[in-house]
Amino acid sequence: MSKAIRPGESDEDRLDRSRRIQWIDLERLSDSHCLVVGAGALGNEVVKNLVLSGVKRITLVDMDRVVRSNLNRCVFFSEDDTASDNFKSEIVAQRAGELSPGAEITPLVARIEDIDLNALARMDVAFGCLDNVAARLHLNAHTYHLGIPYVDGGTYGMAGRVQVVIPPSTPCLQCGMNRTHFKVMERRYSCTGNEASFYEPKMPAEITTTSVVAAIQVREAVKIMSGREMDCIKHILHYNGLTNASENLELSIDPQCPMHSSDNR
Ligand SMILES: [Zn+2]
Repeated sequence: MSKAIRPGESDEDRLDRSRRIQWIDLERLSDSHCLVVGAGALGNEVVKNLVLSGVKRITLVDMDRVVRSNLNRCVFFSEDDTASDNFKSEIVAQRAGELSPGAEITPLVARIEDIDLNALARMDVAFGCLDNVAARLHLNAHTYHLGIPYVDGGTYGMAGRVQVVIPPSTPCLQCGMNRTHFKVMERRYSCTGNEASFYEPKMPAEITTTSVVAAIQVREAVKIMSGREMDCIKHILHYNGLTNASENLELSIDPQCPMHSSDNR
């Protein structure tokens, strides 16, 4: 049996307690580069969990500024930020850097659709912390193409979901899209004739569900970065915050999926 650790003992290394959890490969976490797309409720929690877990390099993509109604669920934002010219990604980068000195968090004020593919190719894991299907599918397509594991999270009030895509062996987001989704997307695109986003039905995000979903996302990524992909969620994990029940919704690779139907990598 291992000896109990007293408070203050072995206190030189801030990651000492994480180091005692044998399945976590802290060296690989420290060397990994994570892409987080979205600096809203989920993005705040995901970045917080990543830096506390020992991840040092993060690129954070978001194009918005902070508004007051963000403040009920975003750990890195404060009242002063609503009057600031700084963007969400810049604020999260600065404050997460204070939480974990030595972390290098690069903010990109942009839409994911505007990011250079070569920049994505350097990533070890990508996180979707997004509120719209079009941006998720864009990220899904490019990470699949580049062979980068993609951990997607979403919340809907007290409900949440997490999907882990390890290309090409697991179903991707596109495999799970039904025809109705595409019909609605096509209609939105054809109405405007130019770029548009299809927004999922909105239910306000709240912090407890957001925290649970972001924690699961980061835990899955820590498994991937520690070489334990085999232990990741295989399908879609659905979380019901009202009952505290979670279940794995089974998903299979769709032979019609544009990613999986051809050698897209
Ligand atoms: Zn697919």
